Amino acid sequence: MRLGSKWNRRSFLGSLGVIAGSVLAPRKLFASKSATGSSGFGKSGNPYEELGVTTVINCQGTMTMLGGSVIRPELEAVMAQAGRHFVRMPELEVAAGKRIAEMLKLPEGYTALVTSGAAAAMQSGLAGILTGDNEAFIRQIPDLTGMKSEVIIQKSHRNPFDHQLRTTGVKLIDVETRDDLRQAISPRTAMMHFSNFANSQGQIKVDEWVKLAKEYKVPCMNDAAADTPPVSHLWDYANMGYDLVTFSGGKAIRGPQCAGMLIGRKDLVAYALLNNSPHEDTIGRSQKVGKEEIVGMVKALELYLNEGHEALTKEWQDRLESISRQITKVPGVTTSFFVPEIANHVPHMRIIFDPAKISVTPKEVSQLLKDSKPSIVMSVGEEQPGLGMNSFMLQPGEDKIVANQLVRILREHSTGT
Ligand SMILES: *Cc1c(COP(=O)(O)O)cnc(C)c1O
Repeated sequence: MRLGSKWNRRSFLGSLGVIAGSVLAPRKLFASKSATGSSGFGKSGNPYEELGVTTVINCQGTMTMLGGSVIRPELEAVMAQAGRHFVRMPELEVAAGKRIAEMLKLPEGYTALVTSGAAAAMQSGLAGILTGDNEAFIRQIPDLTGMKSEVIIQKSHRNPFDHQLRTTGVKLIDVETRDDLRQAISPRTAMMHFSNFANSQGQIKVDEWVKLAKEYKVPCMNDAAADTPPVSHLWDYANMGYDLVTFSGGKAIRGPQCAGMLIGRKDLVAYALLNNSPHEDTIGRSQKVGKEEIVGMVKALELYLNEGHEALTKEWQDRLESISRQITKVPGVTTSFFVPEIANHVPHMRIIFDPAKISVTPKEVSQLLKDSKPSIVMSVGEEQPGLGMNSFMLQPGEDKIVANQLVRILREHSTGT
C-alpha cells in the first residue's frame, strides 16, 4: 500500500530540519544501569549522553536516519567474539553466505553476500552483472566501454535509492507499459530492476516482472530492503525467480545497522563480491563491511527466524491500543489502526484531533513531542490528516512515556468546548 510507505518516508523527510534543530536534551536511558566497567568515554553506560547527543523515543520505525534498529544482547555478544580474531575476509564472506542460504532454505544455486546495507547490495549486485569476473572491467567501472549499459525500471519505481544503480555508470530506462518494456529491451540491457515497495504503483507487478525478464533472458533484481515482515519475503522473491534480491540488515531484522544482504544466483553473487570490499580498485571498496557485521548478520538472521512473529505483532498492537486508551480520554481525540501492505508491514495508529476541541496542529504536536524530555519522534501525515505512529521500535516502558506526553500536550491545547 502506497499510503504506508509514503506516510513514513515523506513525513520523515519533512521532519529532518526539526531533528537537526532540536534542543540537546540528553536522556537518562541507561542511567539506572550500572556502569560498563570501562573508564573514560563510555563510563556512564550511555556514550550518546557523554557526547551530548539526544537519544529519541522512536515512534517512526526502522529509519536509517534514526539509527536503524537496536540490536539484541545475544547479537552484541557474537559481534564482540568476531572482533577478537583475524580472518581472510573473502573466505568469511563465502562461508557466511552459505550459512545464510541454508538458514533461509534458498533455492538450489542461490547464495547470499553480506554487504554494508541494501543500498550497497544494489550497487555491487549490478556491478557484478556488468563486469562478470573480467578484471579489467572491474577496474574500469563506472566507465562501461565494452559492457552493457542500461537498466530498465518502471517509472513509478524510481526512488532515491536508484542512485546506487546509477553509480555504476548505467542509464536507467523508464517504462510504464508492457509495450514500453518490449521496446526498451536491447543488446544494451544489463538488468531489469524492481522496487518492491512500489509493487502496487506500477502496471507490471512483482511476479510478472520476473517472468518478462526470463522471457528476454535479462537478469532481474528486486530491492526489498525494508520489506520484512513478513519473514517469508526473505525467500519468496528468490523462489519467484529473481536473480538478485536485496535486504537491509539494520531494519526489522535488527542486525547491525551497517549490514545488509544480497541474495541471489551463485555466479552473480560471486561477481558482486569481486566488485566489493575487501577487493581494491573496485567500485564497492568504499562500502566496507566488517567481520563483526558479517558475523552479526548471520546471528541476527538466526534470531529473527526463531522469533515468535505473531506474538510480537500482537505486542506491537497492544502497545498502540494502550496509548490509544489514554489519549482518547482527551475530548476531540480519535484513533484508528492500519497495517501498510508492504514496507513497515506492522501495526500503525493514526491519531486525529478535532480542531474545534484542540487548538494545535499535528505538525505542532510533532514539534512539541520532539522538544519534550525525553524527545519523541512521530510522523505527521502529509496525505492523511493527523499524526501517524508505530510501536515496533519502542523500548520497554516507552509506550507509557509517549501516552503521557501526548495527553499532556493535547490537554494543554484543549479549548474546553
Ligand atoms: C532502506 C532502504 C534501502 C537502503 O538500505 P540500507 O540497508 O540502508 O542500505 C534501499 N531501498 C529501500 C526501498 C529502502 O527502504
